[in-house]
Amino acid sequence: MIIRKKIWPHTLSDIFSMTFILTIVPIIYWFELWVVLPTLYQYGSLPYILHFLFGNFVMLNIVGNFTYIVFCDTSTRRDIMPISAANTKDGWRLCASCETLAPPRSWHCPTCNTCILKRDHHCIYTGCCIGHFNHRYFIMFLLYLFVATTCSFYYNNFFIWNRMHFEFPVSLIKIIFPLAIFIFGFDGSINQFYLILYIVSAVGMLYTAVLCIYHICLMFNGTVANESNKKIHIYNLGWKQNVKEVLGDRWYLTWILPYIKSQLPHNGVIWDTSNSWIYINPKSK
Ligand SMILES: [Zn+2]
Ligand SMILES: [Zn+2]
Repeated sequence: MIIRKKIWPHTLSDIFSMTFILTIVPIIYWFELWVVLPTLYQYGSLPYILHFLFGNFVMLNIVGNFTYIVFCDTSTRRDIMPISAANTKDGWRLCASCETLAPPRSWHCPTCNTCILKRDHHCIYTGCCIGHFNHRYFIMFLLYLFVATTCSFYYNNFFIWNRMHFEFPVSLIKIIFPLAIFIFGFDGSINQFYLILYIVSAVGMLYTAVLCIYHICLMFNGTVANESNKKIHIYNLGWKQNVKEVLGDRWYLTWILPYIKSQLPHNGVIWDTSNSWIYINPKSK
């Protein structure tokens, strides 16, 4: 992996979104494992230990995949660009901003100010682009955020409704409109802080579910967000190969940890299309 040097977010929206994610993830982690879990299971019991280990495993994957997304250089500045192979017939184009030839599927990001190999989109939560070399970590980051928020929401239901008296309609308004807490006022207990975390876990679960479905569908179709408006997906090599194009040849192991190596079939510069792939692998269809 080539390390990206300028990792600091470039725009205000990147700074706010990155700060939000770097603040809320540790707070939810603390809340679930140190506040919620001890009220649900006896400290030191087998279910307590199993839940504690599972929580740490999920957190390790969130932090690990986030770090890999941010530090992985997936731009065309890498030393893998054989300019001699550049051919406009193969989809190479001249990037006016970079003032150089850029390979097919690459796209210029005005925020990162560089062309990104197989650019998917610019992610404001990580302050960088998602492209060929960090696509795998992004998918796993999303998946684990979904797992984390779903589990949090499930257990928070037991926790929060044991502590709070549900008063209709004030409690309902507070849940639907978190800012209503400021109108009805803090009742001085920490319960209202917990209620905000409960809402964050519910909204986070729905938000990450939508993103997971969208990005996993794109992955199975062999396309990226940037290309999704095209009617014919020429890089669709069959769902199994499409998954390998994102997660690598050891795709079935990538959920365990981001540190596990999984070689990508293509280098991000030269691509196979549906036609060339059938020619190489006649059994693929
Ligand atoms: Zn460019
Ligand atoms: Zn970008």
